[in-house]
Amino acid sequence: MQFSSVVGHNDTKRQLIKLGSDGRVPHAILFGEEPGYGALPLSLAFAQYLSCPNRTETDSCGSCPSCNKFEKLIHPDLHFAFPVSTTKKITSKPVSDNFIDSWRKVVRANPYMGEQELYDEMGAENKLGNIGVAEASLIFRKLSMTAFEGGNKYMVIWLAERMNQEASNKLLKLLEEPPKDTYLFLISQSVDRILPTILSRCRIIKLSPIDRHLLSERLMIEFGISESDATLWAKISGGSLSRARRAISESQETSAFDNLIADLINGCLSRELMNVISVWEEVAMLTRERQRDFCYKLIEYIRRTYILSLGSEELI
Ligand SMILES: [Zn+2]
Repeated sequence: MQFSSVVGHNDTKRQLIKLGSDGRVPHAILFGEEPGYGALPLSLAFAQYLSCPNRTETDSCGSCPSCNKFEKLIHPDLHFAFPVSTTKKITSKPVSDNFIDSWRKVVRANPYMGEQELYDEMGAENKLGNIGVAEASLIFRKLSMTAFEGGNKYMVIWLAERMNQEASNKLLKLLEEPPKDTYLFLISQSVDRILPTILSRCRIIKLSPIDRHLLSERLMIEFGISESDATLWAKISGGSLSRARRAISESQETSAFDNLIADLINGCLSRELMNVISVWEEVAMLTRERQRDFCYKLIEYIRRTYILSLGSEELI
């Protein structure tokens, strides 16, 4: 993945490139984000950049043997850890290596993917994954080995907040004395759930929402929609590419949420509690990701209704 494929975050890209060219890359960086901001593609682009022998002042070359392996996520010194759970095939002590093919498939298709997409591909059904101590031991072992290609080693830990206490303590030892030429990129969508002792050993880079103008340009190209539509979706998505994509696909299909929201509001206004409960029962059947989308849509609906009630129609 090259920096040019990562939507927005131009300031962060410049900051990372400067760290690389000054030789001051911290051994552990924690990227904090909201789903869909792009911390995963950004950290992949950064690792690729650092290892590219032909990198320029703005990006990796994208065509050398090293870049090719990074693009395919098969570089032997690029390691991954992500939340896993037991499945029909893997019935005990699951670790990321058991699901590396699913990971590569999902990330290569869409590095802005949500947690649920990965779980679906892994066959984890609706179980929430975690990063356990078996994984932490594996991280330790992988990073203690000499780099296969003689350069840097990278460990990308996706959704680091899913590490349990035991795994966090083990990782802490690694962060205290990181092996030479080793870089850990932790990605978290819930930084407040990570142990303060881990946070204090990482450089924290908090990603902002994707620049609205750049996001809308991307949506215009991807969906072939008009500039005004793309601007609207970019605004509603709150700077998240995955949220914008889902919202556009949904609006193109006709939204099932509109009926649910109407039922919910009507139920509340008429104080028909049973109708309200039946809406929540329907929402409870959805996946976590869809439930989150529903909440975002509901918030946006309430916000607009409020603005409308103030007579500021033009704001909507
Ligand atoms: Zn290259």
